[in-house]
Amino acid sequence: MRAKIVAGNWKMNKNIADSGVLLSELKEKLKETPEAKVIVAPTFTNLYYAFEELKGSDIDVAAQNMHQAESGAFTGEISADMLTSIGVTTVILGHSERRAYFGETDELLAEKVATALKHNMTIIFCFGEELEERKDNNHFAVVESQLKNALFSLDSSAWKQIVLAYEPVWAIGTGETATPEQAQEMHAFIRKTISEAYTAEVAEEVSILYGGSVKPANAKEIFAKPDVDGGLIGGASLDAESFAAIANSF
Ligand code: PEP
Repeated sequence: MRAKIVAGNWKMNKNIADSGVLLSELKEKLKETPEAKVIVAPTFTNLYYAFEELKGSDIDVAAQNMHQAESGAFTGEISADMLTSIGVTTVILGHSERRAYFGETDELLAEKVATALKHNMTIIFCFGEELEERKDNNHFAVVESQLKNALFSLDSSAWKQIVLAYEPVWAIGTGETATPEQAQEMHAFIRKTISEAYTAEVAEEVSILYGGSVKPANAKEIFAKPDVDGGLIGGASLDAESFAAIANSF
């Protein structure tokens, strides 16, 4: 059965001291293991600390990004080997902020995915349409092409290491959420698309998270949809009480 997952993307928030406070609050609040697997993605400078702090807990740590090259003259970048060498084996790739502000394309993301897989990492792969694309009724075509360009050259065995995060850009950090019906409609479409490109079994096994202004007040309703396997949470993951409430929404 595919995993239920609630992942918190801290983005460029929390210094080391603030991270320590949030991590210890989370450990306390999530002592009773939720039904979902819980992951936090702090910024690079806090990753090793978070990994060490969370040892022995059921909370996993992910990176928010990584470079596609193995090593070399890429000032300011972080490699897969650097992440795995500190114990971090999950990475978020393709977040809409990376696409919008740092020019990440589907083609570049395909390279990053290949590198992460080479290092046996799990990938939380983000994608989703912009508001104009939804208004123009292009959202299904956009999502299909994002998946196809970045992921559909993979062998079916690689899908065991892929978690999808459908994040409509118009719902990220805006307070605007897709309705549970809109999320379900898109998640079912994504599963059908994967089933056609691969097999029904691959499609059934992949966890598809929803991201975009998930809060304690709406998580239960969204996660109740049959093709929604959890959430990627931005703003609400910065507060232990909110994030724990979301993680306990299954
Ligand atoms: C995100 O950035 O992945 C996200 C879903 O953010 P928020 O929950 O703040 O909309």
